[in-house]
Amino acid sequence: MKIAVSACLLGENCKYNGGNNFSAALAERLRGYEVIPVCPEKSVFPTPRPRVERRGDKVFNEFGEDVTALCSQGVAQCLDSLRTQAVDLVILQSRSPTCGVGTVYDGTFSGTLTAGNGLLAEALIRAGYAVLDVADFLAK
Ligand code: SF4
Repeated sequence: MKIAVSACLLGENCKYNGGNNFSAALAERLRGYEVIPVCPEKSVFPTPRPRVERRGDKVFNEFGEDVTALCSQGVAQCLDSLRTQAVDLVILQSRSPTCGVGTVYDGTFSGTLTAGNGLLAEALIRAGYAVLDVADFLAK
């Protein structure tokens, strides 16, 4: 079974602040599976970088700049790289404007959550992939 996973969950320092979201519980659960790291932001933004949040169909950074086109470019690159790999499942980091599944920050940079998907999650679901938020995967 092949599983694509948000790279920050695997310990890659690709988060906006240069850190990661490593999950030992996830690493344990992924043992024995072929794992493919994905990060739609690291190829189009520097790390560290300003925070970004989704607001409707657009993505803005914390300085109010519209970075939707760059995010979409990163998402397209991820989709291209996964297309040839027969991925069975995608597990994504919670609440991110690109990776979030079901819940994302609301674009006000106030820590407020709202219903919705990140751009990558949305594109993967639309393309027919099985996509899970990491918390939902670990709760199974
Ligand atoms: S874009 Fe996704 S994989 Fe990359 S740092 Fe953000 S949550 Fe992690």
